[in-house]
Amino acid sequence: MGRFDGREVLVAGAGVSGRSAAEALLAAGASVTVTDGSADRLAALASLRAQGAELVPGLDEPPAGTDLVVTSPGWRPDAPLLTAAAAAGVEVIGEVELAWQLGADADHPPTWLAVTGTNGKTTTVSMLASVLRAAGVDVVACGNVGLPVVDAVRAGHRVLAVELSSFQLHWSESVAAHAAVVLNLAADHLDWHGSLESYGAAKARVFRGNAVAVHNADDGWSTRLAAAAPESARHVSFTLGAPAEGQLGVADGSLVDRAFGGREVLASLADVHPAGPHNIANALAAAALARAYGVDAAAVAAGLRAFEPGAHRSVPVAEAAGVSYVDDSKATNPHAADAALRAHPRVVWIAGGLLKGAEVDDLVAANADRLEAVVLLGRDRDRFAAALARHAPDVPVREVTAGDDAGMLQAVRTATEFARPGSVVLLAPAAASMDMFTDYAHRGRAFADAVRAVLAEAPTPV
Ligand code: ADP
Repeated sequence: MGRFDGREVLVAGAGVSGRSAAEALLAAGASVTVTDGSADRLAALASLRAQGAELVPGLDEPPAGTDLVVTSPGWRPDAPLLTAAAAAGVEVIGEVELAWQLGADADHPPTWLAVTGTNGKTTTVSMLASVLRAAGVDVVACGNVGLPVVDAVRAGHRVLAVELSSFQLHWSESVAAHAAVVLNLAADHLDWHGSLESYGAAKARVFRGNAVAVHNADDGWSTRLAAAAPESARHVSFTLGAPAEGQLGVADGSLVDRAFGGREVLASLADVHPAGPHNIANALAAAALARAYGVDAAAVAAGLRAFEPGAHRSVPVAEAAGVSYVDDSKATNPHAADAALRAHPRVVWIAGGLLKGAEVDDLVAANADRLEAVVLLGRDRDRFAAALARHAPDVPVREVTAGDDAGMLQAVRTATEFARPGSVVLLAPAAASMDMFTDYAHRGRAFADAVRAVLAEAPTPV
């Protein structure tokens, strides 16, 4: 009998991972209750009810007899239900921890290769999965990237390329990936974690129990957090500079491995797309994890070439009269926008939205030289305007007040007026989208639609 057989488990949150957790627990013999603040969401889970789960809306304390709570990563640790569980001495874990425990009990436990960081996680796990596939490994990308880890474990894959958010790591007590990386760390989600220190501490959990701990030598936080790896771990790092021994890096236009080989060329920089320093860093991180699993150099190159970038991550949407339009709607914080901006020498920048408490002074100061003009949207646009006035006073700035798709249309029209042949009109908002759009994908689609509409109005930018 497995460890969940006969246990009373409360699943908190009926989102995608909550549903998968509930199904896995039912299959493992647990008696399962699912709660969610939204009764409508619960009502959509009829198939779980048919499998024997109880669906109870709006619980703010665990039912008597509950042995374990499995929480959705979206719930804050101070949610009344979770504090009530803690007060009653009931263990709280996340879906990722559940997946780890189910996998550990399997006949052939999968190997976990884990990726976390403020930005670049989805790109890196997708590159990693592509590289492992090129090497003929049975791998799936899972976790924060979309597929719940529980589902990946139950499907029986050999290797899991797991994207972990800080929220998921917060609720993962015993996860011990074979190899893991913290890509970078910058202020984000501080409203959830309380401080950069506790955000960093959650990220550092990814190094627990690793055989190989990978850090970004160009990022101070990543380097410091790697100290959390066990003493037995082998430390490997990557850099955009020439690699020292024990590092992967860049030399003579190639990705070079001086950690797992003597000195081995893994791939050409031209194999990394979309181009840009941040994606080279992501590719090096993916290569380090793949090498930690024993993959050879040829598979790294083939996998990077076969990698398909995710939507809204530095994706070109159109080109007209020498002006390209690039959608990086996924740049939802200043650190991500910095990476997106640095990939281009001359930018008409569309920015703004919800800053979630972040500052944009450093971002503006570091990129002032590449800005031809800036068009601001969204609720916190005043904060951008103030930073631009301080650090880039000569750059023309326009503000758009409309708060929906019409606002995006106006922004693209204004940006197109500023663009010259060779300019990139870049949507990299440095902020979350929910003040104007459902999410970053909606914002990116609105941008692409607006670009098409504006180019149809005036095919030749002046
Ligand atoms: P995540 O899954 O961590 O949100 P993504 O791979 O989806 O990361 O990329 C999100 C955005 O972050 C991209 O659109 C790009 O603007 C930026 N980005 C990607 N990789 C990096 C990196 N290594 N460093 C900084 N920013 C990055």
